[in-house]
Amino acid sequence: KMRLAELKDFPACTVDGRRVELCANISGVNDLKSVEENGAEGVGLFRTEFLYMDSMHFPTEEEQFRVYREVAEKLNGKPVTIRTLDVGGDKDLPYFSFNKEQNPFLGWRAIRICLDRVDIFKTQLRAILRAGAFGRVRVMFPMIISLDELRRAKEILEECKNELKAEGKSFEQNIEIGIMVETPAVVILAEKFAREVDFFSIGTNDLTQYTLAVDRGNEKTAGLYNPLHPAVLNSIKRIIDASHKAQKQACMCGELAGNIKAAPLLIGMGLDEFSMSAASIPEIKKLIRSLSYEEMRTYASKALEMDTSSEVETFVETILNSSSDSLK
Ligand code: PEP
Ligand code: MG
Repeated sequence: KMRLAELKDFPACTVDGRRVELCANISGVNDLKSVEENGAEGVGLFRTEFLYMDSMHFPTEEEQFRVYREVAEKLNGKPVTIRTLDVGGDKDLPYFSFNKEQNPFLGWRAIRICLDRVDIFKTQLRAILRAGAFGRVRVMFPMIISLDELRRAKEILEECKNELKAEGKSFEQNIEIGIMVETPAVVILAEKFAREVDFFSIGTNDLTQYTLAVDRGNEKTAGLYNPLHPAVLNSIKRIIDASHKAQKQACMCGELAGNIKAAPLLIGMGLDEFSMSAASIPEIKKLIRSLSYEEMRTYASKALEMDTSSEVETFVETILNSSSDSLK
């Protein structure tokens, strides 16, 4: 029986040969040690907002470039997905005043801010593009609800490339572009979005919040907040299927990706990349290496037909108990 630490250099592969990628979520350079130690195959989510929150001013292009470059270089050929600024909602900046909003999570946040403040957006995109010359860098937009937003963001990215080219700066011309799947709007229009992105990354924290209309941070409604709700699971399945139909990669970077209870179902649904807190990787990997993809496909179809979250939870507990028996 293999100990967790010994799994570091083994692939996340089911007993019948289905290979998935296990990546880490980071919020800065300091997290890279744990990425390495836990054998992550890359960074599936770099939450860049902390760079902005820990500063006393909007970080300049050079300040951002230095950080993104360091991450890209230290990953030594492994990919990093850099998410553009995701503030607003519950995340403030000390040097920027957000007007008080009735519903901040439905308000001026993330990509909405960036598309209104193109100057701020461009500074970040230029830094990301330039870091792309030093490693495998991908860019990802948060809180998308419409193709207009995606197309506008891509247009601004193209403008940045043209500027950098004119200035003679080196950058990644063919950077891969993805979006976070955090809203029911993207789930419902999944096929359309899939044609215009290189990858999806399912943000189950917000997707659960917006699908169930339950505040993710409110203790009083915490009992209602459940990513194993059949509506959320079916949304996830819909996104994975739309990705694969368009031959794109389906990733997940919300907390559910590191949830033991969800792993058998996510494997069975065909998720390609799981990105989570690096510390969770060994345990998820160990579990995946004990599962059969064919079996999980059958279980996932069953779970997707269930009526309630509690039915799903009872079902996955049964799956997990039988898989831990087989490990003994
Ligand atoms: C998510 O919403 O699932 C996500 C990964 O983004 P964040 O938790 O930073 O909102
Ligand atoms: Mg989110």
